[in-house]
Amino acid sequence: MDTSTTATFAASRGMPTAAGTPALEATDVYKSLPLGRERIDILKGISARVGRGEFVAIVGPSGSGKSTLLGIIAGLDSPTSGRVSVDGVDITTASEARLAAVRNQKIGMVFQSFNLIPTLTAQENAEAPLYIGKHPGKPAARARELLALVGLGHRLANRPNQLSSGEQQRVAVARALAAAPAIVIMDEPTGNLDQANGENVLRMIRDLRDRTGTTFIIATHDPTVAAAADRAIRIVDGRIADNSAAALARGAEGEQL
Ligand code: ADP
Ligand code: MG
Repeated sequence: MDTSTTATFAASRGMPTAAGTPALEATDVYKSLPLGRERIDILKGISARVGRGEFVAIVGPSGSGKSTLLGIIAGLDSPTSGRVSVDGVDITTASEARLAAVRNQKIGMVFQSFNLIPTLTAQENAEAPLYIGKHPGKPAARARELLALVGLGHRLANRPNQLSSGEQQRVAVARALAAAPAIVIMDEPTGNLDQANGENVLRMIRDLRDRTGTTFIIATHDPTVAAAADRAIRIVDGRIADNSAAALARGAEGEQL
C-alpha cells in the first residue's frame, strides 16, 4: 500500500482530535443491574487507558464482564457510574446525537455473530455505515478498497450466505473500518472460527493495525488469542486482576478460563 493510502486510512475523519489523546480512557467504571429484588454488580471499578494504534486484548474467565465492558466502550450501554472517553470525547456524558455521531465516526464494532445484513452483498454491507452521517469520498469505492484490504476483493458481490464464517468476519471488519474509526472493538473474534481461520484473523488484525494505525480492542477467554495482542488487560469478577505478561503466561499453562 502506498503511503498516501495509509495516511487516508490512519486519519480519523470527520471529528478532529488533539495529538496525544488516548484512543480510549475508562475511569472507575461500575455496572450493576437489577436481578429480582437484588442488584448484581458486573463491573466493579474498571480503569484502563489504551493508546492510539495499540492492539489490546481484554481477557478473563467467562462471565467476568468482558462483553459488558465492550458494550460500554462502544457506547451501546451506559455504566452505572464512571467515565469513558473515546478519542477524547466523553461518551458517558454525551447527548444522544453526539453519541450517535461518535459511534458512527470513531467506533467500529465486530460482533461475534458478525451481524451482517443477509440481503446485502459484501460490498453493500461494507458501505452501509457510510450512508449514515457525513463521510468524505464515495462509499462504493471506499468499500471496495476495504474489502481488498481484508483480502476479499474477489467476493464483492457475494451475500453473507455465500461466504464462509471467516469471510463473513472479514466483511464485518471491513464494515467496522469503513468510517476510519479511532477504535475497532471485537468480541471473541475467534469464537466462531476454526483454528486456522482464528490464526488468520489475528494476523489480519495485526496487519490492519500496522497499515491503518487503528486501535484494536478485542475480548477473549482464550489465552492463546490474547498472546497475539500487544498487551492484555485481565478481568476477573468485574475487576482488573493483573495487567502483566505473567498473567498471560499462567493462562497459557492451562488455567481454567
Ligand atoms: P463475559 O463476556 O466476560 O463472559 P459478560 O459481560 O457477558 O461476561 O457477563 C458478566 C456477568 O454479568 C455474567 O455473570 C452475566 O451473567 C451477567 N450479565 C450480563 N448481562 C446481563 C443482563 N443483561 N442481565 C443480568 N445479568 C447479566
Ligand atoms: Mg462475552
